Amino acid sequence: LQRLAGGLTRSSKALTEQVTATFTKAPLDQAKLDELEEMLIEADLGPHSAARITQRFSDAKFGKSVDEMEIKEALAEAIGDELSSRQGAFDPLSGPRPYVVLFIGVNGSGKTTTLGKIAADLTGKGAKVLVVAGDTFRAAAVEQLKVWAERAGADFMSRPPNSDAAGLAFDAIAAAKEKGHDVVLIDTAGRLQNKQGLMDELLKVIRVVKKIDPDAPHETLLVLDATVGRNALAQENIFGNQIGVTGIVMTKLDGTARGGVLVPVAQASDSPIKLIGVGEGIEDLQPFNARAFARSLVG
Ligand code: GDP
Repeated sequence: LQRLAGGLTRSSKALTEQVTATFTKAPLDQAKLDELEEMLIEADLGPHSAARITQRFSDAKFGKSVDEMEIKEALAEAIGDELSSRQGAFDPLSGPRPYVVLFIGVNGSGKTTTLGKIAADLTGKGAKVLVVAGDTFRAAAVEQLKVWAERAGADFMSRPPNSDAAGLAFDAIAAAKEKGHDVVLIDTAGRLQNKQGLMDELLKVIRVVKKIDPDAPHETLLVLDATVGRNALAQENIFGNQIGVTGIVMTKLDGTARGGVLVPVAQASDSPIKLIGVGEGIEDLQPFNARAFARSLVG
């Protein structure tokens, strides 16, 4: 929690410095409510959440004098309520073996890093983990992933550049079944320049994976970068509509004033937010907790 609170400092600053300036010791009137709504939109919470939260606030406090603490409390509660049904657990060790997790998302979103952090967490819990370099287009990505796998003490599987990613994923799961891996973590390509090409590639990986295990992938995590703000919503839309996403990881919440974008993403998506990234280090990945997030966002 400490780390989350620290991690979201920039988002909470952007939001609450204005809140404080606008509201301190003044009776709540329509002009102030309009300002609050505007602030929430500027903090990337999206027009729908902003309107609902403002309405709640109006219902509770209109005409009353409100101080900073009360505003923060009320905001945290409202945002927490907006998000509480959008939180989901990521728990590969309670699933079938090998538990196959596919990581999807555009390049730079934090897929490799997130996969590495998860690998380290799982090996730390004693699990036998296989990391698969399914982004066969970028040699640098393969190398980076290998470093993460070694650091985590996980097994690693890759192919020469431009190999067939679906074939690699198939062989990886076959190997995992044979060697008794608990979890298989599969990275994928993320070039969005050719959107349909990328979707076709991901769908092919999934199709081929199902040939060796009809229930796999057991989890398809969409990794979204919070620093791109509202653009994350567009990405959720593209991937969410075409690929069967089962959970969202929102990364880089530490480096941005745009952490509020998690709210509209959570609401737009059919799948819950499962994990959040709050730094580049191996330990900087946390289960998503709606209430804790809301509190940290408000500061
Ligand atoms: P990929 O292209 O999707 O595999 O993205 P990478 O995993 O290579 O991440 C891109 C950059 O974002 C790297 O420099 C990472 O260190 C950084 N990164 C990933 N997650 C986080 C995070 O939660 N916080 C911060 N500050 N940086 C992150």
